[in-house]
Formats: sequence, C-alpha cells, structure tokens
Amino acid sequence: MQEKTKVTFFGTEAAIPELGGETASFVINDDVMVDTGWNIVDNLRRQGIDPGNIRYLLFTHMHHDHYISLPSFLYYFLIKNKDLSGLKILGPAEDLEPIMHHTLEFLFLNRKFYPDRSYPVIVPLTPGDSYEDDRFLLETTTSLHPVQALCYKYNDKHTGKTVTFTGDTAYHEPIIELAKDTSLLIHEATYGATPANPLKNGGLHSSAMDAAEVAKAAQVQQLALIHGLRHNNEASVQAAQAIYSGPVLWPEKDQTIWL
Ligand SMILES: [Zn+2]
Ligand SMILES: [Zn+2]
Repeated sequence: MQEKTKVTFFGTEAAIPELGGETASFVINDDVMVDTGWNIVDNLRRQGIDPGNIRYLLFTHMHHDHYISLPSFLYYFLIKNKDLSGLKILGPAEDLEPIMHHTLEFLFLNRKFYPDRSYPVIVPLTPGDSYEDDRFLLETTTSLHPVQALCYKYNDKHTGKTVTFTGDTAYHEPIIELAKDTSLLIHEATYGATPANPLKNGGLHSSAMDAAEVAKAAQVQQLALIHGLRHNNEASVQAAQAIYSGPVLWPEKDQTIWL
C-alpha cells in the first residue's frame, strides 16, 4: 500500500502548447489520468508508466486541448494488445458519449481493423455525481464554462489525502464547497495576473486571483495553478500569493507532488 498520494504534471498550458510544452494534464497515483494533453503516450512513458496500465481516464470537459491525444492513447492499447475493458473513461455526460462513440467506431481509429478487441468502459457523469472504486472516491461539481464541464475531488482512501481539480472554469462558488480543506487544489488560471474580463473568451476562464480566492475560502492546504501562458507563471504565482497565504506553485513539466 502506498503511503503518499502522488500527482505528476505533464503540462500546464492552454490550447496549443509552446514548442516542447504541453497542455494541462496530470496523472494521480500513476494510473488515474486527468485529460490527455497533446502527447499522453510519450508523457507517461517518460515517467516510466506503461500507458496500457492506466486504469482511469478522467475528462474535465471535451474541449480539444483536453482530449486531443485520446486516439493515440487508444491506439496504443490496440497495437500492444492491451485489454481495453480494464480502462474506464469518465467525463461530462453531454459530450463524452458522442465523442467516444465516434472516436472508437469510425472517425479516427477505424475499429473495423480490430474487430475482436475489447472496449473501454464509458462512464458519463453529470455534475454532482460521484464515483467510487476500492481505492478512491470521486466527487464532482459544476464549472462555469461554455460546455458541460466537471470539477473533481479525488479522495485517496489509502492516504486520506484529497486532490481537487477544476478543469476550465470562471470563478465559481460551488468549487469552494467541493475543495473545502483539500490537500491540493489544482485550479485553472488562464488569465494569469490580469483580472478576468467578462468579455474576453466569454469570461469563462479564471485569473490567478480568482483561483486564490477559491483556495482561501476553501482553506486548502496547497494551490497549483495551471492552464495558461508560460511567461505568465511567475506573475500568476505572485498575484495568488497576495490573496492566499498557503503555498502556491505553477508546476513544471514532469514535476511530481507528494501529498
Ligand atoms: Zn482548455
Ligand atoms: Zn475549455
């Protein structure tokens, strides 16, 4: 039984990452993957994790920067003869099922080439739903974004630690409730140290100050900021620290945090 909860970040950028960078994605305890980034297979292998050993893939929402390398991930299972039925894919009900259906059947993977192969288990979630495994409990709430999106709290049953993560969202009070006393809050901070402008991107992302307000109100133990431009990282951390007194970081690529 492992004594600590492990979170490894692969990327913290938005949309199209800079050369050598990666969009927001991370893995919890080496087998629960959150969003795919652009390069999920390489990212996992660089950490010594066989992509075929991932048991859960959680999607915060189905904007492309959060699932763009899903086909290569599934292709890895197919070509390596890994049992896809051991993989559970969770995400927002409105978009998960249609996208998974088309990805698995026709549009990209052309599953007729692999007629006798198993399928992953698709678990559509509506904000507020929870999901339980013998190792963890997942709770969810809504986020404020143009598509249905989920914020999750991963409760590690072995360590008693919790990781709460937002996906893309504007400042949204229900997240405070979900994140209450969490060991680590991973909150998007697309606008960096610039206050969220309701007209910019429809106002449906957060600034570092928004993330810090959530961290402060929820009394979280640690705040990680993700989903933004790399050159804003330092200013974002400083802006958050002016509001929230706990530790704040903008994770480096391949950085692991132990809780
Ligand atoms: Zn995004
Ligand atoms: Zn989005």
